[in-house]
Amino acid sequence: MYTLGIDIGSTTSKCVILKDGSEIIAMSLVQAGTGTDGPSRAYAEVLTKAGLTKEQIDYTVATGYGRNTYAEADAEMSELSCHAKGVHFMNPECRTIIDIGGQDAKVIQLSERGTIANFVMNDKCAAGTGRFLDVMAGLLQMPVSDLENYALRAEEPVKISSTCTVFAESEVISQLSKNVDLSNLVAGICNSVASRTAALAKRAGIKDVVCMSGGVAQNGGVREALAKELGTPVLEVKYAQYMGALGAAIAAFEKNN
Ligand code: ADP
Repeated sequence: MYTLGIDIGSTTSKCVILKDGSEIIAMSLVQAGTGTDGPSRAYAEVLTKAGLTKEQIDYTVATGYGRNTYAEADAEMSELSCHAKGVHFMNPECRTIIDIGGQDAKVIQLSERGTIANFVMNDKCAAGTGRFLDVMAGLLQMPVSDLENYALRAEEPVKISSTCTVFAESEVISQLSKNVDLSNLVAGICNSVASRTAALAKRAGIKDVVCMSGGVAQNGGVREALAKELGTPVLEVKYAQYMGALGAAIAAFEKNN
């Protein structure tokens, strides 16, 4: 049986196709999220990669910010449930998920069976989310994927004191005009996201093993800073950005089985 999960995020659309609820057949990611043609492009791309037609998919579940808007889906499911399912599938040892996406951050505590024991969420403020990093990378004229290379080289990270993205942007511009070392500045930006997220994580309670999912998990600068703040290692889940879509594909298998 083939099931498909589609995660329609704020900035990206991701799809995963699973065979019999256990084998990942294909994945796709399009850098365009809800309200764009990103979801249908990601859907078409994953079918092509899998060598399957739409008719061969037994069940589709949509998740993410734009999950209510997708007509191809048979059902929808919350991002929290899908991330929990996806991360538990990839790493059954995980007890705390830190998920930082394009416009929100969530901390989810998992039971041994992979069910949600507790969660806290920041979906009110861009600081502490991928949006903050996207804005800063734009200011520094570099892709977000380059941030970690700079951050991990820093010797004396700059302290960004503003908690608001707009004020932090002015702070970064002022640092740039002082010709501050770029690595130290980028590390300060990553540390700022990490300290906001660590505060969120402490509210939820931290239990080892701690794993990171969502697009920002790929940023080693944020991961390392979080590990330092929390005093425990923070692992990057394999295929971190696809955990919502994977969880949705698992949910589709469970619903159709
Ligand atoms: P959403 O589901 O809300 O669209 P994602 O979980 O896909 O969010 O994460 C998107 C965020 O991930 C972006 O805002 C960006 O900051 C970050 N990101 C994406 N790709 C990378 C990368 N290669 N390296 C570091 N960060 C990345």
